[in-house]
Amino acid sequence: MNPYAGRTERELAAAVAGWAKGLGPLVATAEEAGTMPREIFVELARLGVLGMTVPERDGGLGASAVAFALVLEELAAAWASLAVAVSVNSGIVAGSLVRHGTPEQRARWLPRLMDGSGVGAFGLTEPASGSDAASLRGSARRDGDCWVLDGTKAFITNARYAPCLVALLRVGEATADRPHAGITAFIVPLDAKGVTIGTPERKLGLLASDTSAVTLEAVRVGNDAVLGQVGKGFAIAMAGLDAGRIGIAAQAIGIARGALALARAYATERRQFGRPIADFQMIRFPIARRETELDAARLLALRAAWLRDQGRPFTGEASMAKLYASEAAQRATHLAVQVFGGYGYMREYAVERAARDARATTIYEGTSEIQRLVIARSVLAA
Ligand SMILES: Cc1cc2nc3c(=O)[nH]c(=O)nc-3n(C[C@H](O)[C@H](O)[C@H](O)COP(=O)(O)OP(=O)(O)OC[C@H]3O[C@@H](n4cnc5c(N)ncnc54)[C@H](O)[C@@H]3O)c2cc1C
Repeated sequence: MNPYAGRTERELAAAVAGWAKGLGPLVATAEEAGTMPREIFVELARLGVLGMTVPERDGGLGASAVAFALVLEELAAAWASLAVAVSVNSGIVAGSLVRHGTPEQRARWLPRLMDGSGVGAFGLTEPASGSDAASLRGSARRDGDCWVLDGTKAFITNARYAPCLVALLRVGEATADRPHAGITAFIVPLDAKGVTIGTPERKLGLLASDTSAVTLEAVRVGNDAVLGQVGKGFAIAMAGLDAGRIGIAAQAIGIARGALALARAYATERRQFGRPIADFQMIRFPIARRETELDAARLLALRAAWLRDQGRPFTGEASMAKLYASEAAQRATHLAVQVFGGYGYMREYAVERAARDARATTIYEGTSEIQRLVIARSVLAA
């Protein structure tokens, strides 16, 4: 049963915020250990969060994109690593299956992305193919009734926890005038023979979030692993990223919000020169400025989500939200460290973690430079 039926988007987000408040010291322990306890996924499943983007007919909550953005913000304000795990699972992976999966594919995979047994992974990036995603070299070739998959996907979020990877691989050859030709999305079971999950990457931030390479060596899958049509995978990936970018904007907003809340509280308590440092204009005005940016970022993200809910184009708006929110989050989290002074630089206080975690948001799901290219394409004639 949908535990949120009849609730508004804000009420849904408030329920998740209430749960996230209880995470407490677990966050610091998990970040220190560099791994996420699996039970957390079970709790998210119980809350309905993992299935938020999945329609009720497929067993999910069928919540709006606006609700999902608000929930991701709440999760990120409490724990950025958890927010990205959910964003990838429920945003890109489940979202792609909902949009392009056959009834059999949805019935096979969506329950496993919602029941807390794991979280899904999405594989576009390769060691030599990042921003220029159409240059990917991972391949799929037919062999009788099977497909044989080869290639390495780099920096895969959730790889260690995922039942499946939605992997973009090329069928046939690209041509100079059609670099996207042949790119096809496959749902690869990660327990299949020939799949190797690499050692987790050691990162600057988001330490509890898993980021690992996935290597496919002659992995055999059936035709039922093809998501959408052969050769149409690039469009599937780009649509997934459009939606995913709203999620990353929401993640950046949540991280910034959490850091600014800590900075405001600290500025009020910390006294120097006989008064709270919040009395000093050089502390007050930057906080006012970053809070304003935070609100502007949230409005951009909610606009993109609302357009998506209306079934209207939102590619440019999602990129604007991701670009602005992720860059505003750099400024907000750096300010928070500054307001804390020397304490801000110490592991004991969560602001240094916020600054490290926020850094990834200008990079993944398309760097800021790539967002500017997308925005320019959407506002300028080709
Ligand atoms: C923590 C983390 C998790 C990730 N999770 C996933 C995942 O789950 N799945 C997945 O597929 N990928 C994932 N990625 C990969 C991520 O999406 C890529 O790192 C990103 O798209 C950039 O690709 P790249 O690292 O190869 O950089 P490059 O593409 O090599 O870019 C290097 C620099 O050049 C700039 N640049 C490139 N092209 C242009 C251009 N045309 N104009 C101007 N500047 C340009 C870039 O903006 C960047 O500053 C993850 C990355 C990180 C850090």
